[in-house]
Amino acid sequence: MSNIEQTLSIIKPDAVERNLENEIKQVFKEKGFQIIKAKKIKIEKSEAESFYKVHETKPFYNDLCAYLSSGPIIVMVLEKENAVLGNRELMGATNPKDAEDGTIRKKYGISIDKNSVHGSDSIENAKIEINFFFKD
Ligand code: UDP
Ligand code: MG
Repeated sequence: MSNIEQTLSIIKPDAVERNLENEIKQVFKEKGFQIIKAKKIKIEKSEAESFYKVHETKPFYNDLCAYLSSGPIIVMVLEKENAVLGNRELMGATNPKDAEDGTIRKKYGISIDKNSVHGSDSIENAKIEINFFFKD
């Protein structure tokens, strides 16, 4: 039985700044993800705080929100069979140092904060995050 899912992906400021938008989009397409929606935006810190609210008690929360709102980002809806887990696998570990060969964070990530991409971590959060950036 097919299980087509959608997930939210973000190309973070460090990658946009290095002009990696098209290269990273190509990686997703080569791995069979359809890019259903994509837009380049710059968000306010308050919006980043709302997006990352799940992390509000963490020591890195303030820096994380300042960072995500520091420059343009590409927000995308990706679609594929088992897209949520598939995207997490393709992204690799949060810290690029721990990411496996062939993952986006291994190839492009600079550090644990500048790790180039975001991806939803569950089907439920994917729906919430897609709705956050693409309210139709
Ligand atoms: N992060 C950080 N320091 C940490 C842990 C996380 O700066 O010690 C940042 C990192 O950029 C990560 C984001 O916070 O992508 C969200 O953390 P999460 O644990 O949800 O990682 P992810 O789901 O992005 O792999
Ligand atoms: Mg996460």
